[in-house]
Parts: sequence; C-alpha cells; structure tokens
Amino acid sequence: MSDHHRVLHVAAEVQPLIKTGGLADVAGALPDALHTLGEDVRILMPGYGGAIERARATARLDTIAEWPDARLLETRLPGGCRIWLYETAAFRRRAGNPYDDPQGVPWPDNAERFDEFARVATAIADDTLGLDWRPDIVHAHDWHTGMVPVHMQLARVPAATVFTIHNLAYQGLFPLATRHALGLPGWLDHWEALEFDGRMSFIKGGIGFADRVTTVSETYAREITTPAFGAGLEGLLAWRGADLVGIANGIDTHRWNPARDPALPAPYDADQPEGKREARSALLRETGLQAEETMPVIAYIGRLAEQKGVDLLVDALARIIAQPAVVIVLGSGDPVLRNALRRASKARPDRVYARFDFDEAFAHRIYGGADMLLMPSRFEPCGLSQLNAMRYGTIPIVRRTGGLAETVVDTDRTTLADGTATGFQFDADDADLLGETVQRACDCFAQPDTWRTLVDHAMRRNSGWARSAGAYRTLYRDTLNARHRYLPPYL
Ligand code: ADP
Repeated sequence: MSDHHRVLHVAAEVQPLIKTGGLADVAGALPDALHTLGEDVRILMPGYGGAIERARATARLDTIAEWPDARLLETRLPGGCRIWLYETAAFRRRAGNPYDDPQGVPWPDNAERFDEFARVATAIADDTLGLDWRPDIVHAHDWHTGMVPVHMQLARVPAATVFTIHNLAYQGLFPLATRHALGLPGWLDHWEALEFDGRMSFIKGGIGFADRVTTVSETYAREITTPAFGAGLEGLLAWRGADLVGIANGIDTHRWNPARDPALPAPYDADQPEGKREARSALLRETGLQAEETMPVIAYIGRLAEQKGVDLLVDALARIIAQPAVVIVLGSGDPVLRNALRRASKARPDRVYARFDFDEAFAHRIYGGADMLLMPSRFEPCGLSQLNAMRYGTIPIVRRTGGLAETVVDTDRTTLADGTATGFQFDADDADLLGETVQRACDCFAQPDTWRTLVDHAMRRNSGWARSAGAYRTLYRDTLNARHRYLPPYL
C-alpha cells in the first residue's frame, strides 16, 4: 500500500472561511499540515454565504443530479489544500452562526441540512459526483458530520472512516421521529445505533460507525470513558476501547506568529521579545485600563459558557484585581455571565475591560499584549487558546483537565530549573483556588528575571502541527491495515 493517502476531511467550519471555535482552527490547519507531509487532502464544508464571499470560490459542479438546488464550489486554503463548499439555500441564506440563529436558538432544519451534507460527503467518497477523485480515508469532525460514517456504511462505500470528537458536550440530538423524516432505516432507532435517551443522536453515528474515533488530547480520551466527562456516552466510548485514541491539537504557527502578526504594533519572538512591551502598552491604551508596569494584564478569551468556568472567574474577580492587576475579557455567549462581567467593568473601568464579540484581530492584540491568560475550564478537550497564548509569551493559568493538563507545565522550582515550566495549574472547580493560583502567578510576575525565563520557555514551546499530523498519518495507515468497522447485526 502506498505511504500516502487520499483523505477527505468533512467539517462544518474551516478557518479562515468561517469560525466559531477550535474546530475551525483544526479543520483549517490539520489538512494543510497533512498536505505538507505529502498526503492528498481535500476538505468538504457547507457553503455559508459569508464563507463563499471570503473564499472567492469558483464553481466546480454547477448542477448535481441528486440535489438539483445545490452547487459545489472550489477554492484552496492558504497552504494549498483544495476545499469544496457545498452550497444550498439552507446554508447560504443565514445570518447568525452555522448552528444557531442570532438569538442563539438552533436552526430548525439542522438535522436535515447536516444529514444532506453527510450524504454529499458520502457521494464524494464514492466518487459518484464526477469529481474523479476517490478518498482512501474520510475524516469527519464533530456531531455535524456524525452521519457521514452511517451513510458510508449504508451505501457500502469502501473508504475507511475516522471520526474526531472536538467536544462531546455538543451531540446533535433531535426528536426520534427525525430518523424517519430523513428517510433512514428503522433499525437506526436502536440504542446500539443512533438512539440516545429517547432521541436521535448524530454524534453516536460518528462514534459507533466510524472505523476509528479520535479526540483532541490523550487526557480527554481517557476522561470521556468515565461518567464525569462522558456526557452519557462513556459506555459506548469505553466499549470502543483501543479504537478511541487521543491526538493533541497543534496551532497554525504561521497564522499565530508574533514575529509576523499584522495585528501587533511591533514584531517580537523568543529571541527578541522586546516588542511585547509595545503590544502591552497599545492594549492598555485601547482598553483604557490603568496598569503600572508592576501590574500584570490578565486576559480571558473564549466562549462565555459554563464549560469554560467563566463563573469562577466572575467570582474570583474582586480578589484578582486586588492583587493588583487588570483584567480583559473577550467573549461571546451566556447573557448572565455577560451581565456580571459588564457590571464588574462598569464598577472598575480602570481595572476591568470586557468586550462581548467575536473579534479575531482583537484576540491577536490581547494574546500579544497580555501577561497571563486564564482558562478555568471545567473540561477542555484540548484547548487552543493556551497554545496561542504561550506562542505570544502570555502565561496560561489553567484548570488541570483534558488538553490543558498535558499542554501546560505547572511552574515550580524543578520545572523552572529544567526549563519545562510554561504556566500555572490548579485542580478543583473552585473560585478560591483560582484566586490563589492567580496570586501564585502574580508573585512570580513580581520577580522579573523569573518571569522572563517563564515567558521564554512558553514562547519556545513547539505547538506546531507537524507532530500531530504525523500521528494522524500513522492512524490512517493503521486504519487501512486493520478496519475496525462496527457492524450492527442488522447490516
Ligand atoms: P472552543 O471550546 O471554543 O473550541 P478552543 O480553546 O479550542 O475553545 O478554541 C477557541 C479558539 O477561538 C481560539 O483560537 C480563540 O482564540 C478563539 N476565540 C474564542 N472566543 C473568541 C472571541 N470572542 N473572539 C475571537 N476569537 C475567539
């Protein structure tokens, strides 16, 4: 068998065309990293209006016999990887994000849209659309593409399937009757197939029907086989045994590079870190915060959601700004958390700044200008923000869970001495402990030589994709050598 594979990635969001979170970062960067290793990789994503505009894509298929209202567009990622956008009215004409309307309510036709999308992926995998390309591997991401391995089994498409869980908390649950409405066979209603708690689960399609299941860190791969993290799917995940593997995410080190970041006032890197001071001053000017040099700028960038422990940050805020320190929050999400943060910034506009938006350029300016980044997540499949932060010399303060546990090394005498320290970790779901850990970080910040060493370690961490892309390639090879397809007795 050739050492190189033809791989079709299927994802609902792909950076730089559309992004709501880490999934887009991965779906944009991993294919390019595999392409660099010599794999023949294509990506299929939905053709949302905004993404089509940004892509400046050209039509690849003007008509598709089975879906007369659809078109397939084609463009390339910055790294050269070819990407197809499946355009239908249901994907194109929407404000809001790919999954929810502007009020945050899921679009009513999500099951239909993403099931159709999975059928298109299956047709491409079987080369029935006339693209003259047939993948060895179809690699689907998250619940939106959970039906891909199901349709591929139903249609007996020969390509092997890999399904990656980026976040088990989002499962794609619909009324059980949806299965019938989608024209799928009745046996899929069985608990050994797609039924979950009286509903139809798209993510069960991915977990149960793919040849291999991966998730985005080794720690999270272990955690999700337990009731505390398994969201009800721990039994199925544990049953998949060795077919479930964890491969930590990397980041796109071209896109996330303080030495060439147009969002920053001056370039810097580990060898010449001086530019970070300018980024910090610019950030303070932009936010109107008042911090002397001895006061750290502590940031939070991410979804305002329970998963992320933002409520712990709210509870610990008074203690954090008493350090003294200033706090910057950039996030969108939960209105209750938003209000609490808004109140805090109104009360202390000199110490707390909050912006409720999804703003990529501002995120870059914060990673550049901040001294510390908080991630008190209750669970974290991998987490990318801490990797971005370290690359920009911003020290992560994280809960020891999932990918955070294995990508950040807690600072103590030993890890400082051996050059492995990159951040601060704490263990429990506890605002006091978060406050104590921030205090520990601030004590370290007060020793400029020690802090410089820590920043240097963090910036030199290799967070690029090369190693993980290599691990995926090995997984593809193993999958093709030994298919572990779960065949329910009914098939
Ligand atoms: P998630 O659980 O949301 O996928 P990750 O840490 O894996 O969390 O990835 C989040 C990504 O989205 C990071 O690249 C982060 O910088 C970015 N991000 C999150 N919230 C915002 C925001 N409000 N504005 C800009 N970028 C954001």
